[in-house]
Amino acid sequence: MGGPEIEHLISLLARLPGMGPRSARRAALRMLQQPEARMLPLATALAEAARAVKPCSICGNLDSRDPCSICSDPQRDHTLICVVEGVGDLWALERALIYRGLYHVLGGTLSALAGIGPSELNLTPLLTRIEHGSVAEVILALGATVDGATTAHWLTDRLKPLGVPVTRVAQGVPIGGALDVLDDGTLAAAMRARRPS
Ligand SMILES: [Zn+2]
Repeated sequence: MGGPEIEHLISLLARLPGMGPRSARRAALRMLQQPEARMLPLATALAEAARAVKPCSICGNLDSRDPCSICSDPQRDHTLICVVEGVGDLWALERALIYRGLYHVLGGTLSALAGIGPSELNLTPLLTRIEHGSVAEVILALGATVDGATTAHWLTDRLKPLGVPVTRVAQGVPIGGALDVLDDGTLAAAMRARRPS
């Protein structure tokens, strides 16, 4: 069409979530028509984010500082830990402005089908935080999928012997839905109506 650079750009864009070949071609064309205004700032932002952003060594959130800005915020309630599957779920809860505690990002859910066991998840740092910290409540905010429920059961069994109350957000959550597709009102209601796990 227009040389290997354009083809390469389109094939990289098409691999992004929510993009297919058609939207990748449109995005590439839009950028190529205004390289100074659109393309170079994006290239700089991509390089800067790739260099600076890392998982938080405490909670697994993505941030350019470590501990992340949530873990190091003295205004937040450091006795609450909300366990989420991914950073997208953390972002959804933060957008909804309903929770002022800390988080723990598992990086997935247990899944027999996908061969994901406890050792594949970011679990050891969570157990360490509970064993060494003054945690008053662990809130499980996992999606209402089979794997989400399995993970919640497993975590409850594992955390209760440590003497920490474990609660679960109420599931106004659509079956198979992840937290970040919920609107803020539904998320707020689910967080308020949490119950013992
Ligand atoms: Zn953190």
